[in-house]
Amino acid sequence: MSSLSSSSSLPPQTLKIGIVGFGTFGQFLAKTMIKQGHTTRATSRTDYSQLCHQLDVPFFRDVIPFLEADNDVILICTSILSLSEVLNSMPLRRLKRHTLFVDVLSVKEHPRNVLLQVLPENMDVLCTHPMFGPESGKNGWKDLPLVYEKVRVRDETRCSSFLHIFESEGCRMVEMSCEEHDKVAARSQFLSHSIGRILAEMGIESTSMNTKSFETLVKLKESATNDSFDLFSGLFIHNRFAQQELMNLEQSFEKVKQRLLKKMSEQQSLSSV
Ligand code: NAP
Repeated sequence: MSSLSSSSSLPPQTLKIGIVGFGTFGQFLAKTMIKQGHTTRATSRTDYSQLCHQLDVPFFRDVIPFLEADNDVILICTSILSLSEVLNSMPLRRLKRHTLFVDVLSVKEHPRNVLLQVLPENMDVLCTHPMFGPESGKNGWKDLPLVYEKVRVRDETRCSSFLHIFESEGCRMVEMSCEEHDKVAARSQFLSHSIGRILAEMGIESTSMNTKSFETLVKLKESATNDSFDLFSGLFIHNRFAQQELMNLEQSFEKVKQRLLKKMSEQQSLSSV
């Protein structure tokens, strides 16, 4: 793992970026790209024509003209669960030029494998994971991590120009293999989402006597449930390291419970003598 500047010696290019999947996260990224002067266009399962009109982003209901719209970059912002279906439904042979495909999915080995499988060999592939979202990034992206792997990059200038979008917002650029990302994310992001979901199942709510630690738990619950269940289940289903972490969580819960029960029975036997 390294934390590096991704800049090439050439000045960053203004890019034409086609966004596939214009849900919460696709819209969130598009706003910063537009602010920086890049040209964006979008396609999605849902009809976002009206919203796109307000943002001045051309919206394509039909994927063929979208693919033929002279994109420098195609940015995949669909859910983890729908990635294969979405890519397999796109007539990718209609692409008129060499394009950089970038994904922002919260797991990394899965999109890397799918992109390498479905894309023509002459397309470049950059896998990224912005480790923030509309809530944590609402006041800017400074010091927030952008994890990436240049999986198949021949046009370095175009790739650097794309990464510069995040660098120029002050993101911490972390170059890491997709495998390493998934290992670390299973033990950090997936774990925090799981605990947040468990707290939501328990229905915890803020009280008039919150400790700081309990406030942290309430925030964790809220942040986990702000993301879609599709996102959470994608973190589990498409990260091969997540199942082990779920088992670790279960075993650790059981160990803590057993320690408490043992201590209780020791105390009870003491008080009965
Ligand atoms: P999400 O629930 O993970 O994904 C929603 C997007 O997926 C929408 O664009 C939706 O299209 C599309 N989609 C879902 N099912 C589909 C299907 N069957 N066919 C076609 N499209 C489908 O929520 P999200 O927060 O917007 O996340 C998008 C991606 O960004 C995910 O891969 C996520 O892991 C990644 N990401 C999210 C965050 C975050 O904080 N939210 C942070 C980093 C990375 P329609 O809107 O057209 O229905």
